[in-house]
Amino acid sequence: MKEFKRCKKCIMPTTRWGIQFNEEGICYPCLYNEKQKSIDWSERWLELDELCSQHRNRDKPYDCVICVSGGKDSTYLVHTFKKLLNMNPLCVMVDNATWTDTGRANFYNISEVYDVDIITFTSKVKTMKDNIRSDFFTTLRPMQYWDEVLYRKPLEIAEKFGIGLVIWGENTHIHYGGSNAEETPNAKLWLKDPTEFTELDVIFTSYYIPWSRSENVRVARLNGFKGLIENEGWDREGYIEMFQYDQCDGVGYLTNQYLSKFIRGGFSSMTELCSVSIREGLMTREEAMEIVRENDWKLDPIMMKDFIDIIGISETEFWNVVDKFANRDVIEMVDGHWKVKEVLNV
Ligand SMILES: [Zn+2]
Repeated sequence: MKEFKRCKKCIMPTTRWGIQFNEEGICYPCLYNEKQKSIDWSERWLELDELCSQHRNRDKPYDCVICVSGGKDSTYLVHTFKKLLNMNPLCVMVDNATWTDTGRANFYNISEVYDVDIITFTSKVKTMKDNIRSDFFTTLRPMQYWDEVLYRKPLEIAEKFGIGLVIWGENTHIHYGGSNAEETPNAKLWLKDPTEFTELDVIFTSYYIPWSRSENVRVARLNGFKGLIENEGWDREGYIEMFQYDQCDGVGYLTNQYLSKFIRGGFSSMTELCSVSIREGLMTREEAMEIVRENDWKLDPIMMKDFIDIIGISETEFWNVVDKFANRDVIEMVDGHWKVKEVLNV
């Protein structure tokens, strides 16, 4: 079992799959955060503008595909490419059968505010739910199947429409930790076979623009994006208010955080979001640990209920599977809840 140690700067633990640490115990996302300060971002912006120029085409209905959901980054991406880079995007949303009302509202808002077409690709709902259910039972990573569909379908749709540029947001391996933490604009590395789709440019926007969670929230909110509390009064257990704008589009994804990250590795949304906030200078490491101790172990009951209804299992079945996969090196049962061992909260 992998040792659980937190980064000395942020609080990300070594149990996140693929995350790398240096000898001083600093995680790669923190090291990259420092490195970002010396990147010539105006140069990178020119590179992006040049790439867009190669694809900009007023004779066709669309000149790029933007992969969207109902999250804040989707609004930010459409804003950047349509308003600032004068592109004419076709937005592609891959339905994961577990959207929240807020996710849907934000998604329609994008189409209305930016007057863009959105294709919703609904992957076979029965197959999707069957896969979510079976991955839940066998690996406790219920959204694996959807992730594969999510990365692939927008590229297929781009090809069908004769569009040469596909746009993603941030490279999660660089910004949150992962085995592909390579500084590259090429987002094909998310595919099972990165040599596919040779005709397409598939990019991480975060290579070209400094990626900031708080800036994306600001821009998105200015353009009609809403959080869960303000849109549907849903104050999720385990989320502090400043993060109501994060991860608010689907219950499958949210429950996945608890299952595949917290139960297997002892970290969930608060660890990740607080770590990002430490890097952005919005909180101290001590404040972050306080928030995590208080909240990271909580699974919102509405979210859990929606999730078990979607895959058709009982609450007892849900908790039996959770208990089976619980990483007992890292978490322990305290007052009826799985919590990270206090000795690891340093
Ligand atoms: Zn770190």
